[in-house]
Amino acid sequence: MTIDHVTFRPGTPEYDAARTTFAGTATPALVLRPTSAADVVAALDHARSAGLPLAVRSGGHNVLGLGAVDDGVVLDLSRLDAVELLGEGRVRIGAGATWGAAAAALAPHGLAVSSGDTTSVGVGGLSQAGGIGWLVRKHGLTVDHLLAAEVVTAAGQVVRASATDNADLFWAVRGGAGNFGVVTAFEFQAHPVTTVHFGTITFAADDVAQLLKGWTAAAITNASDDLTTMLVLMPDFGSGRTALLYVCLDSDDPSPIDALRTIGTVLTEDVRELRYADTLEEAHPPEGVLPVIGNALVGSVDEPLIDAIATAYAGGGRVVFLRSLGGAVARVDRTATAFAHRDAEALVVSAAFLPIDATDNQVAEARGVWRTIGDQGIGAYAGFLGSDSDEDIAALWPADTYARLREVKRAWDPDNVFRRNFNVRP
Ligand SMILES: Cc1cc2nc3c(=O)[nH]c(=O)nc-3n(C[C@H](O)[C@H](O)[C@H](O)COP(=O)(O)OP(=O)(O)OC[C@H]3O[C@@H](n4cnc5c(N)ncnc54)[C@H](O)[C@@H]3O)c2cc1C
Repeated sequence: MTIDHVTFRPGTPEYDAARTTFAGTATPALVLRPTSAADVVAALDHARSAGLPLAVRSGGHNVLGLGAVDDGVVLDLSRLDAVELLGEGRVRIGAGATWGAAAAALAPHGLAVSSGDTTSVGVGGLSQAGGIGWLVRKHGLTVDHLLAAEVVTAAGQVVRASATDNADLFWAVRGGAGNFGVVTAFEFQAHPVTTVHFGTITFAADDVAQLLKGWTAAAITNASDDLTTMLVLMPDFGSGRTALLYVCLDSDDPSPIDALRTIGTVLTEDVRELRYADTLEEAHPPEGVLPVIGNALVGSVDEPLIDAIATAYAGGGRVVFLRSLGGAVARVDRTATAFAHRDAEALVVSAAFLPIDATDNQVAEARGVWRTIGDQGIGAYAGFLGSDSDEDIAALWPADTYARLREVKRAWDPDNVFRRNFNVRP
């Protein structure tokens, strides 16, 4: 089968779109934009026989730019973006769709899939990382609603992975960070969701420790599972330190939000009833700075962690995000999917913003500050991992999960064809 009809070379808009990721611009040798699983088989065959490095790209939001590659082939899945309702709340979504498009297509049917909070993030990458968004405490991770995946394997076969077909592959796809084949489409069980109470409450961030203690109590320990929040300690842009609390409540009764207003001094608030699909927003990469990103899944937001976050934040030039977990995420058995850090109470993500020409020492120093927070975690999340060192990749999965992932990798991709990712070595 010829691949000319899906091949794009430098100088075409398709090439430029595919080489640009959230992390920057790559210079691939060529871009292949398949329109079917059969095209993916042919494209994969071409990349392998040309001996070129391969990057698989859905939405291009990996923060290290793993969705593109210099001097290699970018397999750009953006044309595999159909969203099809299958009945009884089941939906088939192409890997190249964005979560904004998927949410907008489901909204008229009163349905949603628990996913991420950013419109342009790809279904392909997020659905294999885990999927942590505004519905996570009530409905669980994105992977928890996956019924089946269509996968083009390293051997060039199109297979179905589900609880009853290739169950090992199905397990690994749900949290294995894209190591096992090219997923061309996902079948999800959507949930009935129409409007939610959504918005932000802004607090003064003069007493960060107090704010974090209050947030942990009100947003996690004593919170209804209907409530999912993210507390953002904002960098000081000159008008003082503030914290932004994103609130999403999937319930008709807004009273669970009341306790959140007591955790600090409220400066502004815009929580209102909103269509779930309209809660997803666009995010743009920071310009003119070098972000040094770390994340940790934490077992509990306890005093030592709070101290470490407060100290790192006080040092300046840093944003810290705390996303509440627990609820439905913690009710799934840790062996059910390859996302195994089920007992995490929260996800902490932080970025230090360095000058664009920062020295290696400055980067190492920023990473050192992050380690004071990160080392207190029980693991890390593939979605926001800002490093692909062996040590950081090891934090994505507990040892028993990693051993099982390696077995699946050996069965489905023994030559490590799919290695431009947080790599599980066969
Ligand atoms: C601004 C921003 C906001 C974010 N918000 C959230 C959020 O709210 N919740 C959350 O959980 N995560 C979030 N993330 C993290 C996001 O889930 C991951 O970066 C995810 O990997 C992005 O998927 P993608 O398809 O856009 O990325 P890509 O860069 O295209 O791919 C990411 C990785 O997955 C592999 N891959 C992609 N598609 C496939 C496929 N179909 N088959 C096999 N391998 C594939 C790629 O090779 C690459 O290694 C966010 C990231 C950014 C930059």
